[in-house]
Formats: sequence, structure tokens, C-alpha cells
Amino acid sequence: MENIRIGNGYDVHALAEGLPLWLGGVKIESPVGCIAHSDGDVPIHALCDALLGALALGDIGKHFPDTSDEFKGIDSKILLRRTMDLVSAAGYRVGNADITIAMQRPKLAPYIGQMRSTLAGLMSVPEDSVSVKATTTEKLGFVGRGEGCEAYAVVLLLKNPA
Ligand code: MG
Repeated sequence: MENIRIGNGYDVHALAEGLPLWLGGVKIESPVGCIAHSDGDVPIHALCDALLGALALGDIGKHFPDTSDEFKGIDSKILLRRTMDLVSAAGYRVGNADITIAMQRPKLAPYIGQMRSTLAGLMSVPEDSVSVKATTTEKLGFVGRGEGCEAYAVVLLLKNPA
């Protein structure tokens, strides 16, 4: 395999009132949360798909099926750790990751730093190797109407020295 590999990931979950909201491994103060089989951490799911995609290992649904009781309500940080185990087993490490979260409300800016440090810790990279950005969609589409949250992730993997 080559010395560098790139991957991208995308995820979306519907929102409902009264559910906890977890984004980037951080609990967000919010009147709405994600409807999901797991804890519904959209950016972590996109990140896992980017990591798996970089190695052409399939997707998060293949490795952690939402039909399995094992993953019901699971903390997505565990899914990211397990995905990182697969990355390590393939002989790669994360070079950098860049994530964009699209959500109309609440404002996510106060949580960005904590998300970056949490994700960097889970991937064993320095914090400046992890970027998290948040945007609204100017009230357009399902995100703008507050019906859902979506996230995009891109990662670069570096091959470990032999
Ligand atoms: Mg998901």
C-alpha cells in the first residue's frame, strides 16, 4: 500500500426534542438531540467512515451494525477507538482530520475546542492535527429547518515506518 491514504465520510441524523445531544464526543447543551441506535454522534460517525474509507475497509454500518444490540445506545467514542484499532492494525496513523458540522441551532462555537481535544485524544494525535468547524445552512433545507444535523469529515492517513 501507498504511504498516504485519504478518506472522506458523511453522516446525518434526525433531531427530536428531549434527547441528549453528543457531538464530537462532547455533551452539548441543547433542547434537541439525535434520533439514533447509538448515541447519535454525527461528526464521530462521519470521522469513522472517513478513517474506514481511507483504507477501503467499508463503512461504520458494516463494522458496527445498527441492528446489533451490542451497539444499542453505545458511546460513539468507543466506535472511534475501535475504528482506530483497525487503522493501527493496517499499519497506519492519522496525519490530520478536518470535520464540518452543519446544524442550525444551538450555536456550537463554545464546544469546538473541547471537541478537538477529545477527538485528538481518541486518535492519539496532537490537537492541531484535528480541525472541527461548525456552520448553519442559513435556514435552508432539513438542517436549516432544525430537522437534522449533518457532518462531513476528511482524513489523511500516514503509513507507519516498517
Ligand atoms: Mg450515524
